[in-house]
Amino acid sequence: MTNVDPGEDFASFDYYHALFDNPKKNSVLLLDDTGVILQVNRAFLLSFGYSESELIGEHFSLLFTPEDRAKDLPIREIQTVLDEGQSFDNNYLVNRNGLQTWASGESVLLTNARGRRCVLKVIQNIHVQKESEQSIVRLNTFNESILASIEDAVLVLDNELKLVKANRSCLELFSLADTPLHLVDFKQLLQGIEHQDELYAGIVKTLGVGADPAALAAGSALSGPLQVEMPDGHGRMRSFDVAWTLLDHIGPDKVLLIFHDITNQRNQDRQREDILNFVAHELRNPLTNIILNIDWLGGLVREQELGEFGEFIDRTRRNAERLKKLINELYRSTKLISGNYDLQREEFDLGGLIDESIFAMTLAHPGYMIVRKGNPNVPGDIRLSGDRDKLLQVLTNYLSNAIKYSDGSLLIEVIVGQRDGSVVVGVIDKGKGIPAKELPYIFNRFYRAERTRSLEGLGMGLFLCRQIVEAHRGRTWVESVEGQGSAFYFSLPMA
Ligand code: ADP
Repeated sequence: MTNVDPGEDFASFDYYHALFDNPKKNSVLLLDDTGVILQVNRAFLLSFGYSESELIGEHFSLLFTPEDRAKDLPIREIQTVLDEGQSFDNNYLVNRNGLQTWASGESVLLTNARGRRCVLKVIQNIHVQKESEQSIVRLNTFNESILASIEDAVLVLDNELKLVKANRSCLELFSLADTPLHLVDFKQLLQGIEHQDELYAGIVKTLGVGADPAALAAGSALSGPLQVEMPDGHGRMRSFDVAWTLLDHIGPDKVLLIFHDITNQRNQDRQREDILNFVAHELRNPLTNIILNIDWLGGLVREQELGEFGEFIDRTRRNAERLKKLINELYRSTKLISGNYDLQREEFDLGGLIDESIFAMTLAHPGYMIVRKGNPNVPGDIRLSGDRDKLLQVLTNYLSNAIKYSDGSLLIEVIVGQRDGSVVVGVIDKGKGIPAKELPYIFNRFYRAERTRSLEGLGMGLFLCRQIVEAHRGRTWVESVEGQGSAFYFSLPMA
Protein backbone atom coordinates (compact mmCIF):
# COMPACT_ATOMS: atom_id res chain seq x y z
CA MET A 1 0.00 0.00 0.00
CA THR A 2 1.13 3.53 -0.80
CA ASN A 3 1.22 6.10 1.94
CA VAL A 4 -0.95 9.06 0.99
CA ASP A 5 -0.25 12.08 3.07
CA PRO A 6 -3.58 13.96 3.41
CA GLY A 7 -1.67 17.17 3.91
CA GLU A 8 0.35 16.79 0.72
CA ASP A 9 0.24 19.89 -1.51
CA PHE A 10 -0.27 18.27 -4.94
CA ALA A 11 -0.68 21.63 -6.63
CA SER A 12 2.96 22.33 -5.82
CA PHE A 13 4.05 19.72 -8.40
CA ASP A 14 5.15 21.15 -11.71
CA TYR A 15 2.52 19.47 -13.94
CA TYR A 16 3.00 21.93 -16.74
CA HIS A 17 6.64 21.16 -17.48
CA ALA A 18 6.18 17.48 -16.85
CA LEU A 19 3.35 17.34 -19.40
CA PHE A 20 5.02 19.50 -22.03
CA ASP A 21 8.64 18.40 -21.85
CA ASN A 22 8.68 14.69 -21.04
CA PRO A 23 5.94 12.58 -22.67
CA LYS A 24 6.72 10.64 -25.80
CA LYS A 25 3.29 9.10 -26.44
CA ASN A 26 0.57 11.36 -25.06
CA SER A 27 0.36 14.54 -27.08
CA VAL A 28 -0.68 17.77 -25.41
CA LEU A 29 -1.77 21.11 -26.83
CA LEU A 30 -2.51 24.30 -24.93
CA LEU A 31 -5.03 26.56 -26.65
CA ASP A 32 -6.42 29.92 -25.72
CA ASP A 33 -10.17 30.20 -25.29
CA THR A 34 -10.64 30.93 -29.00
CA GLY A 35 -8.65 27.88 -30.13
CA VAL A 36 -5.32 29.52 -30.95
CA ILE A 37 -2.39 27.23 -30.17
CA LEU A 38 -0.26 28.55 -27.31
CA GLN A 39 1.90 25.53 -26.55
CA VAL A 40 2.52 22.12 -27.99
CA ASN A 41 4.48 19.30 -26.39
CA ARG A 42 7.29 17.17 -27.79
CA ALA A 43 5.13 14.07 -28.13
CA PHE A 44 2.69 15.93 -30.40
CA LEU A 45 5.50 17.15 -32.67
CA LEU A 46 6.96 13.63 -32.83
CA SER A 47 3.62 11.99 -33.48
CA PHE A 48 2.17 14.41 -36.01
CA GLY A 49 5.34 15.62 -37.68
CA TYR A 50 4.95 19.41 -37.26
CA SER A 51 7.61 21.83 -36.08
CA GLU A 52 6.75 24.07 -33.15
CA SER A 53 6.91 27.24 -35.26
CA GLU A 54 4.32 25.85 -37.69
CA LEU A 55 1.78 25.61 -34.90
CA ILE A 56 2.29 28.27 -32.25
CA GLY A 57 -0.02 31.22 -32.88
CA GLU A 58 -2.12 29.29 -35.43
CA HIS A 59 -5.74 28.33 -34.87
CA PHE A 60 -6.01 24.66 -33.99
CA SER A 61 -8.56 24.20 -36.78
CA LEU A 62 -5.57 23.77 -39.11
CA LEU A 63 -5.29 20.30 -37.55
CA PHE A 64 -8.76 19.34 -38.79
CA THR A 65 -9.76 17.98 -42.18
CA PRO A 66 -11.52 20.41 -44.52
CA GLU A 67 -14.71 18.37 -44.08
CA ASP A 68 -14.59 18.69 -40.30
CA ARG A 69 -13.76 22.41 -40.58
CA ALA A 70 -16.74 22.84 -42.87
CA LYS A 71 -18.86 21.25 -40.16
CA ASP A 72 -17.45 23.79 -37.64
CA LEU A 73 -16.13 20.98 -35.52
CA PRO A 74 -13.15 22.95 -34.05
CA ILE A 75 -15.34 25.86 -32.96
CA ARG A 76 -17.97 23.55 -31.50
CA GLU A 77 -15.31 21.67 -29.58
CA ILE A 78 -13.97 24.86 -27.97
CA GLN A 79 -17.50 25.98 -27.20
CA THR A 80 -18.28 22.70 -25.44
CA VAL A 81 -15.16 23.03 -23.29
CA LEU A 82 -16.06 26.59 -22.38
CA ASP A 83 -19.65 25.62 -21.58
CA GLU A 84 -19.09 22.32 -19.86
CA GLY A 85 -15.53 22.41 -18.63
CA GLN A 86 -14.43 19.56 -20.86
CA SER A 87 -15.04 17.83 -24.14
CA PHE A 88 -14.25 14.40 -25.40
CA ASP A 89 -13.57 13.98 -29.08
CA ASN A 90 -12.97 10.55 -30.37
CA ASN A 91 -11.80 9.61 -33.84
CA TYR A 92 -11.50 13.00 -35.43
CA LEU A 93 -8.86 13.49 -38.06
CA VAL A 94 -5.70 15.53 -37.65
CA ASN A 95 -3.77 16.67 -40.68
CA ARG A 96 -0.09 15.98 -40.86
CA ASN A 97 1.56 16.88 -44.14
CA GLY A 98 -1.58 15.88 -45.94
CA LEU A 99 -1.82 12.55 -44.16
CA GLN A 100 -4.80 11.98 -41.94
CA THR A 101 -4.40 10.40 -38.57
CA TRP A 102 -7.12 9.09 -36.31
CA ALA A 103 -6.86 10.66 -32.90
CA SER A 104 -8.73 10.48 -29.67
CA GLY A 105 -8.62 13.54 -27.45
CA GLU A 106 -9.92 15.07 -24.27
CA SER A 107 -9.98 18.81 -23.72
CA VAL A 108 -10.32 20.47 -20.32
CA LEU A 109 -10.80 24.07 -19.33
CA LEU A 110 -8.03 25.66 -17.22
CA THR A 111 -8.20 28.97 -15.44
CA ASN A 112 -5.13 30.65 -13.94
CA ALA A 113 -4.89 32.93 -10.90
CA ARG A 114 -5.47 35.97 -13.08
CA GLY A 115 -8.70 34.51 -14.43
CA ARG A 116 -7.29 33.74 -17.87
CA ARG A 117 -8.91 30.70 -19.48
CA CYS A 118 -7.09 28.18 -21.60
CA VAL A 119 -7.91 24.79 -23.06
CA LEU A 120 -5.61 21.83 -22.42
CA LYS A 121 -6.02 19.16 -25.05
CA VAL A 122 -4.59 15.67 -24.49
CA ILE A 123 -4.48 13.58 -27.66
CA GLN A 124 -3.70 9.97 -28.38
CA ASN A 125 -2.77 8.74 -31.83
CA ILE A 126 -5.13 5.77 -32.38
CA HIS A 127 -4.57 5.50 -36.10
CA VAL A 128 -3.41 1.87 -36.03
CA GLN A 129 -6.31 0.71 -33.83
CA LYS A 130 -8.77 2.62 -36.00
CA GLU A 131 -7.35 1.15 -39.20
CA SER A 132 -7.62 -2.40 -37.88
CA GLU A 133 -11.13 -1.63 -36.62
CA GLN A 134 -12.03 -0.41 -40.08
CA SER A 135 -10.48 -3.40 -41.80
CA ILE A 136 -12.46 -5.69 -39.47
CA VAL A 137 -15.61 -3.78 -40.40
CA ARG A 138 -14.70 -4.10 -44.10
CA LEU A 139 -13.98 -7.81 -43.65
CA ASN A 140 -17.31 -8.27 -41.86
CA THR A 141 -19.15 -6.43 -44.61
CA PHE A 142 -17.33 -8.61 -47.14
CA ASN A 143 -18.24 -11.79 -45.23
CA GLU A 144 -21.82 -10.64 -44.89
CA SER A 145 -22.12 -10.01 -48.62
CA ILE A 146 -20.62 -13.42 -49.41
CA LEU A 147 -23.02 -15.04 -46.96
CA ALA A 148 -25.94 -13.18 -48.48
CA SER A 149 -25.03 -14.13 -52.03
CA ILE A 150 -24.21 -17.84 -51.67
CA GLU A 151 -26.79 -20.48 -52.47
CA ASP A 152 -25.88 -22.65 -49.47
CA ALA A 153 -28.12 -22.09 -46.47
CA VAL A 154 -25.93 -21.00 -43.57
CA LEU A 155 -26.96 -20.59 -39.96
CA VAL A 156 -25.24 -20.08 -36.63
CA LEU A 157 -26.55 -21.43 -33.33
CA ASP A 158 -25.42 -20.37 -29.90
CA ASN A 159 -24.75 -22.82 -27.09
CA GLU A 160 -28.42 -22.71 -26.06
CA LEU A 161 -29.40 -23.79 -29.60
CA LYS A 162 -30.77 -20.31 -30.35
CA LEU A 163 -30.38 -19.05 -33.90
CA VAL A 164 -28.05 -16.06 -33.93
CA LYS A 165 -27.50 -15.80 -37.66
CA ALA A 166 -29.13 -17.03 -40.84
CA ASN A 167 -28.35 -15.99 -44.40
CA ARG A 168 -30.85 -15.26 -47.17
CA SER A 169 -30.88 -18.85 -48.46
CA CYS A 170 -31.48 -20.17 -44.96
CA LEU A 171 -34.42 -17.82 -44.37
CA GLU A 172 -35.89 -18.98 -47.68
CA LEU A 173 -35.28 -22.68 -47.10
CA PHE A 174 -36.92 -22.64 -43.69
CA SER A 175 -39.50 -19.92 -44.50
CA LEU A 176 -38.16 -17.76 -41.68
CA ALA A 177 -38.41 -14.34 -43.32
CA ASP A 178 -41.07 -13.12 -40.87
CA THR A 179 -39.79 -14.76 -37.69
CA PRO A 180 -37.31 -13.10 -35.33
CA LEU A 181 -34.32 -15.45 -35.24
CA HIS A 182 -34.10 -15.71 -31.45
CA LEU A 183 -37.67 -17.06 -31.34
CA VAL A 184 -36.93 -19.96 -33.68
CA ASP A 185 -37.03 -23.34 -31.94
CA PHE A 186 -34.15 -25.25 -33.52
CA LYS A 187 -35.58 -28.68 -32.81
CA GLN A 188 -38.83 -27.59 -34.43
CA LEU A 189 -36.88 -26.27 -37.40
CA LEU A 190 -35.51 -29.75 -38.07
CA GLN A 191 -39.02 -31.28 -38.20
CA GLY A 192 -39.52 -33.10 -41.48
CA ILE A 193 -35.81 -33.44 -42.21
CA GLU A 194 -34.62 -36.97 -42.83
CA HIS A 195 -32.24 -38.13 -40.02
CA GLN A 196 -33.41 -35.16 -37.92
CA ASP A 197 -32.59 -36.93 -34.64
CA GLU A 198 -29.10 -37.83 -35.80
CA LEU A 199 -28.54 -34.28 -37.01
CA TYR A 200 -29.82 -32.76 -33.79
CA ALA A 201 -27.73 -35.13 -31.69
CA GLY A 202 -24.62 -34.43 -33.77
CA ILE A 203 -24.97 -30.69 -33.27
CA VAL A 204 -25.72 -31.02 -29.57
CA LYS A 205 -22.66 -33.21 -29.27
CA THR A 206 -20.51 -30.69 -31.14
CA LEU A 207 -21.64 -27.95 -28.78
CA GLY A 208 -21.37 -30.30 -25.82
CA VAL A 209 -24.13 -28.47 -23.91
CA GLY A 210 -27.78 -28.83 -22.98
CA ALA A 211 -27.65 -32.37 -24.18
CA ASP A 212 -30.12 -34.97 -23.12
CA PRO A 213 -28.35 -38.34 -22.80
CA ALA A 214 -30.45 -40.01 -25.52
CA ALA A 215 -29.45 -37.29 -27.99
CA LEU A 216 -25.81 -37.67 -27.06
CA ALA A 217 -25.91 -41.43 -27.51
CA ALA A 218 -27.63 -41.16 -30.90
CA GLY A 219 -25.06 -38.64 -32.09
CA SER A 220 -22.03 -40.51 -30.92
CA ALA A 221 -21.45 -42.22 -34.25
CA LEU A 222 -21.53 -38.98 -36.19
CA SER A 223 -18.25 -37.68 -37.41
CA GLY A 224 -18.97 -35.69 -40.49
CA PRO A 225 -21.43 -34.32 -43.00
CA LEU A 226 -24.83 -35.93 -43.31
CA GLN A 227 -26.93 -36.34 -46.45
CA VAL A 228 -30.57 -35.58 -45.81
CA GLU A 229 -33.80 -35.12 -47.70
CA MET A 230 -36.11 -32.33 -46.65
CA PRO A 231 -38.91 -30.18 -48.02
CA ASP A 232 -37.80 -26.73 -49.21
CA GLY A 233 -39.76 -23.53 -48.59
CA HIS A 234 -42.09 -24.45 -51.48
CA GLY A 235 -42.95 -27.94 -50.25
CA ARG A 236 -40.70 -29.78 -52.75
CA MET A 237 -38.37 -32.49 -51.48
CA ARG A 238 -34.70 -31.64 -51.90
CA SER A 239 -31.43 -33.31 -50.95
CA PHE A 240 -28.77 -31.60 -48.88
CA ASP A 241 -25.29 -32.24 -47.61
CA VAL A 242 -25.38 -30.86 -44.07
CA ALA A 243 -22.06 -29.99 -42.47
CA TRP A 244 -21.41 -28.26 -39.18
CA THR A 245 -18.46 -27.02 -37.24
CA LEU A 246 -17.80 -25.50 -33.86
CA LEU A 247 -16.95 -21.79 -33.83
CA ASP A 248 -15.04 -21.66 -30.57
CA HIS A 249 -12.78 -18.72 -31.32
CA ILE A 250 -15.46 -16.00 -31.21
CA GLY A 251 -16.63 -15.82 -27.63
CA PRO A 252 -18.94 -18.49 -26.21
CA ASP A 253 -19.19 -21.61 -28.36
CA LYS A 254 -21.37 -21.46 -31.42
CA VAL A 255 -22.02 -23.90 -34.17
CA LEU A 256 -22.02 -23.08 -37.88
CA LEU A 257 -24.33 -25.18 -40.04
CA ILE A 258 -24.26 -25.33 -43.81
CA PHE A 259 -26.97 -26.91 -45.96
CA HIS A 260 -25.54 -27.56 -49.42
CA ASP A 261 -28.18 -28.40 -52.01
CA ILE A 262 -27.26 -31.57 -53.93
CA THR A 263 -30.70 -32.26 -55.38
CA ASN A 264 -29.68 -31.88 -59.03
CA GLN A 265 -26.56 -33.97 -58.60
CA ARG A 266 -28.56 -36.67 -56.78
CA ASN A 267 -31.25 -36.67 -59.46
CA GLN A 268 -28.61 -37.08 -62.17
CA ASP A 269 -26.96 -39.90 -60.22
CA ARG A 270 -30.33 -41.59 -59.79
CA GLN A 271 -31.19 -41.25 -63.47
CA ARG A 272 -27.83 -42.75 -64.45
CA GLU A 273 -28.29 -45.63 -62.02
CA ASP A 274 -31.83 -46.21 -63.29
CA ILE A 275 -30.58 -46.44 -66.88
CA LEU A 276 -27.72 -48.78 -65.93
CA ASN A 277 -30.06 -50.88 -63.84
CA PHE A 278 -32.58 -51.08 -66.67
CA VAL A 279 -29.93 -51.98 -69.26
CA ALA A 280 -28.30 -54.60 -67.05
CA HIS A 281 -31.65 -56.09 -66.12
CA GLU A 282 -32.96 -56.21 -69.69
CA LEU A 283 -29.72 -57.73 -71.07
CA ARG A 284 -29.61 -60.60 -68.63
CA ASN A 285 -32.46 -62.66 -70.07
CA PRO A 286 -31.48 -62.59 -73.76
CA LEU A 287 -27.89 -63.31 -72.81
CA THR A 288 -28.84 -66.35 -70.75
CA ASN A 289 -30.72 -67.49 -73.81
CA ILE A 290 -27.71 -66.88 -76.07
CA ILE A 291 -25.43 -68.89 -73.73
CA LEU A 292 -27.93 -71.77 -73.67
CA ASN A 293 -27.98 -71.78 -77.46
CA ILE A 294 -24.20 -71.65 -77.70
CA ASP A 295 -24.00 -74.65 -75.37
CA TRP A 296 -26.56 -76.46 -77.53
CA LEU A 297 -24.56 -75.57 -80.66
CA GLY A 298 -21.35 -76.73 -78.94
CA GLY A 299 -22.93 -80.10 -78.19
CA LEU A 300 -24.05 -80.39 -81.78
CA VAL A 301 -20.58 -79.53 -83.09
CA ARG A 302 -19.02 -82.20 -80.88
CA GLU A 303 -21.70 -84.75 -81.84
CA GLN A 304 -21.28 -84.11 -85.54
CA GLU A 305 -17.49 -84.03 -85.12
CA LEU A 306 -17.34 -80.61 -86.78
CA GLY A 307 -14.02 -79.94 -85.07
CA GLU A 308 -13.11 -76.88 -87.12
CA PHE A 309 -16.14 -74.98 -85.70
CA GLY A 310 -15.31 -75.91 -82.13
CA GLU A 311 -12.84 -73.09 -81.69
CA PHE A 312 -15.39 -70.48 -82.87
CA ILE A 313 -17.99 -71.87 -80.52
CA ASP A 314 -15.52 -71.77 -77.59
CA ARG A 315 -14.50 -68.20 -78.35
CA THR A 316 -18.14 -67.11 -78.58
CA ARG A 317 -18.88 -68.89 -75.28
CA ARG A 318 -15.96 -67.15 -73.56
CA ASN A 319 -17.07 -63.73 -74.80
CA ALA A 320 -20.68 -64.37 -73.85
CA GLU A 321 -19.50 -65.41 -70.36
CA ARG A 322 -17.46 -62.23 -70.08
CA LEU A 323 -20.48 -60.19 -71.09
CA LYS A 324 -22.59 -62.05 -68.53
CA LYS A 325 -20.06 -61.31 -65.80
CA LEU A 326 -19.99 -57.64 -66.76
CA ILE A 327 -23.76 -57.36 -66.82
CA ASN A 328 -24.12 -59.20 -63.52
CA GLU A 329 -21.56 -56.95 -61.84
CA LEU A 330 -23.23 -53.89 -63.31
CA TYR A 331 -26.56 -55.10 -62.02
CA ARG A 332 -25.12 -55.78 -58.57
CA SER A 333 -23.42 -52.41 -58.45
CA THR A 334 -26.61 -50.51 -59.28
CA LYS A 335 -28.41 -52.45 -56.56
CA LEU A 336 -25.62 -51.70 -54.10
CA ILE A 337 -25.62 -47.99 -54.93
CA SER A 338 -29.37 -47.59 -54.64
CA GLY A 339 -29.19 -49.33 -51.26
CA ASN A 340 -31.84 -51.61 -52.76
CA TYR A 341 -30.53 -54.81 -51.16
CA ASP A 342 -30.33 -56.31 -47.73
CA LEU A 343 -27.09 -56.81 -45.88
CA GLN A 344 -27.37 -60.32 -44.43
CA ARG A 345 -25.98 -59.33 -41.08
CA GLU A 346 -24.53 -61.89 -38.73
CA GLU A 347 -21.87 -62.01 -36.05
CA PHE A 348 -18.66 -63.55 -37.28
CA ASP A 349 -14.97 -63.85 -36.49
CA LEU A 350 -12.88 -61.70 -38.82
CA GLY A 351 -9.85 -63.98 -38.38
CA GLY A 352 -11.88 -66.92 -39.70
CA LEU A 353 -12.96 -64.88 -42.72
CA ILE A 354 -9.36 -63.89 -43.48
CA ASP A 355 -8.11 -67.49 -43.18
CA GLU A 356 -10.90 -68.74 -45.44
CA SER A 357 -10.10 -66.19 -48.11
CA ILE A 358 -6.34 -66.90 -47.97
CA PHE A 359 -6.97 -70.65 -48.10
CA ALA A 360 -9.21 -70.38 -51.20
CA MET A 361 -6.76 -68.10 -52.97
CA THR A 362 -3.74 -70.27 -52.19
CA LEU A 363 -5.62 -73.29 -53.50
CA ALA A 364 -6.44 -71.49 -56.75
CA HIS A 365 -2.93 -69.98 -57.11
CA PRO A 366 -0.50 -72.46 -55.49
CA GLY A 367 2.58 -70.59 -56.70
CA TYR A 368 1.82 -67.59 -54.43
CA MET A 369 2.72 -67.18 -50.78
CA ILE A 370 -0.12 -65.38 -49.04
CA VAL A 371 0.77 -64.82 -45.39
CA ARG A 372 -1.23 -63.32 -42.60
CA LYS A 373 0.95 -61.00 -40.57
CA GLY A 374 0.16 -60.94 -36.91
CA ASN A 375 -0.02 -57.71 -34.96
CA PRO A 376 0.68 -58.26 -31.25
CA ASN A 377 -1.74 -55.45 -30.34
CA VAL A 378 -4.68 -57.02 -32.12
CA PRO A 379 -6.50 -59.90 -30.44
CA GLY A 380 -6.72 -63.09 -32.49
CA ASP A 381 -10.47 -63.22 -32.29
CA ILE A 382 -12.19 -60.11 -33.67
CA ARG A 383 -15.97 -60.41 -33.55
CA LEU A 384 -17.76 -58.27 -36.12
CA SER A 385 -21.33 -57.87 -37.20
CA GLY A 386 -21.92 -57.61 -40.94
CA ASP A 387 -22.61 -59.39 -44.17
CA ARG A 388 -19.88 -62.04 -44.00
CA ASP A 389 -20.28 -63.22 -47.61
CA LYS A 390 -20.02 -59.72 -49.02
CA LEU A 391 -17.01 -58.88 -46.84
CA LEU A 392 -15.38 -62.13 -47.89
CA GLN A 393 -15.93 -60.97 -51.47
CA VAL A 394 -14.07 -57.70 -50.66
CA LEU A 395 -11.01 -59.44 -49.26
CA THR A 396 -11.02 -62.02 -52.05
CA ASN A 397 -11.18 -59.21 -54.59
CA TYR A 398 -8.20 -57.43 -52.99
CA LEU A 399 -6.27 -60.72 -52.97
CA SER A 400 -7.08 -61.66 -56.55
CA ASN A 401 -6.00 -58.18 -57.69
CA ALA A 402 -2.76 -58.54 -55.72
CA ILE A 403 -2.14 -61.76 -57.67
CA LYS A 404 -3.34 -60.41 -61.01
CA TYR A 405 -1.14 -57.30 -60.80
CA SER A 406 1.75 -59.03 -58.97
CA ASP A 407 4.17 -58.70 -61.90
CA GLY A 408 5.82 -61.98 -60.89
CA SER A 409 6.34 -61.12 -57.23
CA LEU A 410 4.98 -64.08 -55.29
CA LEU A 411 4.71 -62.81 -51.72
CA ILE A 412 1.45 -61.19 -50.57
CA GLU A 413 0.80 -60.11 -47.00
CA VAL A 414 -2.50 -59.66 -45.21
CA ILE A 415 -2.30 -57.44 -42.15
CA VAL A 416 -4.90 -56.71 -39.48
CA GLY A 417 -4.82 -53.70 -37.19
CA GLN A 418 -7.03 -51.51 -35.05
CA ARG A 419 -7.50 -47.75 -35.31
CA ASP A 420 -10.02 -45.30 -33.81
CA GLY A 421 -12.56 -47.97 -32.92
CA SER A 422 -12.26 -49.65 -36.32
CA VAL A 423 -10.54 -52.78 -37.48
CA VAL A 424 -8.29 -52.29 -40.50
CA VAL A 425 -7.44 -55.05 -42.98
CA GLY A 426 -4.69 -54.52 -45.56
CA VAL A 427 -3.51 -56.57 -48.53
CA ILE A 428 0.06 -55.73 -49.47
CA ASP A 429 1.77 -56.78 -52.67
CA LYS A 430 5.12 -56.01 -54.29
CA GLY A 431 3.62 -55.93 -57.78
CA LYS A 432 3.15 -53.38 -60.53
CA GLY A 433 1.93 -50.58 -58.29
CA ILE A 434 -0.26 -47.72 -59.48
CA PRO A 435 0.90 -44.31 -60.78
CA ALA A 436 0.10 -41.52 -58.29
CA LYS A 437 -2.04 -39.64 -60.81
CA GLU A 438 -4.36 -42.66 -61.17
CA LEU A 439 -4.77 -43.39 -57.46
CA PRO A 440 -7.74 -41.05 -56.87
CA TYR A 441 -9.82 -42.88 -59.51
CA ILE A 442 -8.92 -46.48 -58.75
CA PHE A 443 -12.14 -47.21 -56.81
CA ASN A 444 -14.37 -45.67 -59.50
CA ARG A 445 -16.70 -47.86 -61.49
CA PHE A 446 -15.12 -49.07 -64.78
CA TYR A 447 -11.76 -47.48 -63.94
CA ARG A 448 -8.71 -49.47 -64.99
CA ALA A 449 -5.16 -48.11 -64.68
CA GLU A 450 -3.66 -47.34 -68.08
CA ARG A 451 -0.82 -49.85 -67.89
CA THR A 452 -3.02 -52.79 -66.90
CA ARG A 453 -5.68 -52.48 -69.59
CA SER A 454 -4.19 -55.33 -71.60
CA LEU A 455 -5.01 -57.70 -68.71
CA GLU A 456 -8.46 -59.21 -68.42
CA GLY A 457 -10.73 -57.12 -66.16
CA LEU A 458 -13.86 -55.03 -65.95
CA GLY A 459 -12.84 -52.24 -63.59
CA MET A 460 -15.78 -53.09 -61.36
CA GLY A 461 -14.19 -55.08 -58.52
CA LEU A 462 -12.81 -52.24 -56.41
CA PHE A 463 -15.94 -50.20 -56.97
CA LEU A 464 -18.04 -53.04 -55.56
CA CYS A 465 -15.59 -53.42 -52.66
CA ARG A 466 -16.06 -49.76 -51.78
CA GLN A 467 -19.86 -49.99 -51.98
CA ILE A 468 -19.90 -53.03 -49.72
CA VAL A 469 -17.51 -51.56 -47.15
CA GLU A 470 -19.32 -48.21 -47.11
CA ALA A 471 -22.63 -50.01 -46.62
CA HIS A 472 -21.00 -51.27 -43.39
CA ARG A 473 -20.02 -47.66 -42.51
CA GLY A 474 -16.40 -48.48 -43.23
CA ARG A 475 -13.75 -46.97 -45.51
CA THR A 476 -11.56 -48.19 -48.35
CA TRP A 477 -8.27 -46.71 -49.45
CA VAL A 478 -5.03 -47.54 -51.22
CA GLU A 479 -1.37 -46.65 -50.91
CA SER A 480 0.82 -47.49 -53.85
CA VAL A 481 4.11 -46.69 -55.56
CA GLU A 482 4.40 -47.46 -59.23
CA GLY A 483 6.85 -50.30 -59.83
CA GLN A 484 7.09 -51.14 -56.11
CA GLY A 485 3.69 -52.45 -55.07
CA SER A 486 0.37 -51.57 -53.53
CA ALA A 487 -1.40 -51.78 -50.20
CA PHE A 488 -5.19 -51.92 -50.36
CA TYR A 489 -7.05 -51.37 -47.09
CA PHE A 490 -10.55 -51.44 -45.71
CA SER A 491 -11.72 -50.53 -42.25
CA LEU A 492 -14.89 -51.54 -40.45
CA PRO A 493 -16.29 -50.00 -37.27
CA MET A 494 -16.11 -52.52 -34.45
CA ALA A 495 -19.18 -51.34 -32.53
P1 ADP B 1 -10.18 -54.96 -62.66
O1 ADP B 1 -9.13 -55.67 -61.88
O2 ADP B 1 -11.26 -55.83 -63.14
O3 ADP B 1 -9.62 -54.11 -63.74
P2 ADP B 1 -10.70 -53.52 -60.23
O4 ADP B 1 -11.79 -52.55 -59.93
O5 ADP B 1 -10.54 -54.66 -59.33
O6 ADP B 1 -10.94 -53.95 -61.73
O7 ADP B 1 -9.35 -52.69 -60.29
C1 ADP B 1 -9.33 -51.48 -60.98
C2 ADP B 1 -7.92 -51.19 -61.45
O8 ADP B 1 -7.09 -50.94 -60.33
C3 ADP B 1 -7.26 -52.33 -62.16
O9 ADP B 1 -7.57 -52.32 -63.54
C4 ADP B 1 -5.79 -52.04 -61.94
O10 ADP B 1 -5.34 -51.11 -62.88
C5 ADP B 1 -5.77 -51.38 -60.58
N1 ADP B 1 -5.40 -52.29 -59.48
C6 ADP B 1 -6.22 -52.93 -58.63
N2 ADP B 1 -5.54 -53.66 -57.73
C7 ADP B 1 -4.23 -53.48 -58.02
C8 ADP B 1 -3.00 -53.97 -57.45
N3 ADP B 1 -2.99 -54.78 -56.38
N4 ADP B 1 -1.84 -53.55 -58.02
C9 ADP B 1 -1.86 -52.71 -59.08
N5 ADP B 1 -2.97 -52.23 -59.65
C10 ADP B 1 -4.15 -52.60 -59.14
